[in-house]
Amino acid sequence: MGLKVCKFGGTSLADASQFRKVQAIILADPQRRYVVPSAPGKRTSDDPKVTDLLYLCQAHVSQKVPFEDVFNLLSRRFLQIEADLGLSIGMDKHLEQVRKAIAGGASADYTASRGEYLNGLILAALLKYEFVDAAEMVFFNSEGSLDRDRTDQAVARRLRGVERAVVPGFYGTGADGQVKTFSRGGSDISGAVVAAGVKAEVYENWTDVNGLLMADPRVVKNPHTIDVVTYRELRELAYMGANVLHDEAIFPVRRAGIPVNVRNTNDPSAAGTMIVPEEELRGRTMGAITGIAGRRDFTVIALEKSLMNSEIGFGRKLLTVLENHGVSFEHCPSGIDTMSVVVADASVKNKMDKVLEDIRAACQPDAMETYPNMALIATVGRGMAHTPGMAARVFTALAGAAVNIRMIDQGSSEINIIVGVETADFEKAVRAIYEAFVK
Ligand code: ASP
Repeated sequence: MGLKVCKFGGTSLADASQFRKVQAIILADPQRRYVVPSAPGKRTSDDPKVTDLLYLCQAHVSQKVPFEDVFNLLSRRFLQIEADLGLSIGMDKHLEQVRKAIAGGASADYTASRGEYLNGLILAALLKYEFVDAAEMVFFNSEGSLDRDRTDQAVARRLRGVERAVVPGFYGTGADGQVKTFSRGGSDISGAVVAAGVKAEVYENWTDVNGLLMADPRVVKNPHTIDVVTYRELRELAYMGANVLHDEAIFPVRRAGIPVNVRNTNDPSAAGTMIVPEEELRGRTMGAITGIAGRRDFTVIALEKSLMNSEIGFGRKLLTVLENHGVSFEHCPSGIDTMSVVVADASVKNKMDKVLEDIRAACQPDAMETYPNMALIATVGRGMAHTPGMAARVFTALAGAAVNIRMIDQGSSEINIIVGVETADFEKAVRAIYEAFVK
């Protein structure tokens, strides 16, 4: 029988009643053998997250300011969860150890990791699963990134013969032997590496939404949930702003060919979204789109020069200037005598003038213009490849909504069509595309 690795996010473990839901989910399926918890998250929208409180404690100590009041806030939460679940695992003693470590100048990473660690102890006791410390099997290299091969082997070795375990998310051991965390939201990566290490049949990522939505619900009213999305489509959508999983969580499972199922702890009967390798789905959804995502705040730098097309190296000169300034470009539309680059405003903040000056010196254009306030919208779908009429539907929808398209780019994989529109037209454009494809 295959096994499942289940990661539960902070809102899924925010208090005892959420823990009970998690317990019921685990008990409902014996394949759910390895569980990766986050630290307790928000119970209500204005509630603090335990991880934030821990960082705050550490910051207080580093500034030599008393931290006890903040620590008490998180300490009370853990004690309350322990009491409400009817457990007695000596949480007060564990908390005292953490408090001492923080007072003694523990690192920010160590301090922050204790949210997952303590939550893991509680969850393991509730489920009667073995507690396995992530520091024993998640490793980072000297550059600070995940050492995938070492972690993969360590997870396989450590969990071999362990029937059921809780492994706290978010941290592992750094190259210096000390506890090190991933970036924020990193328990998603922990779940993915455990899934890869034990060769899970599926990696279930339990959160507080019914899966990935076809469009941003702040823009489109009640968008549909995406049933199935490929890893590649998800990358495109996530890059353009759709966020459910930590970006880096995809790679370990993708490499191992393990599907991810995003599920809702508060609605376990919903099937959620399946994220699968491309091969499984080829050709099944001709003509349909998977989702729409978009981002605001881009600027186009447009250059014109006579006979540009015969000037070998023009593009290289332009891109070298961007490279020298550490600016990455999103798109690079070109004509016979024109070439432009689309850059995110954040990446040229405070250096636009210098970048333009250097482009002028390096490329000697006849004219150069910048167009700010552009938004990019990606319409993504494996069903668009090799299907005539998809671009026409996108453009017709935009024309119908009187949206002017300032840039068009279709990736060579044909799974996305990207359009650049005025920021003011952004929401209107997303809604028009959604309505054109979704009944
Ligand atoms: N608790 C950590 C955070 O708030 C990690 C996670 O929840 O994935 O970022």
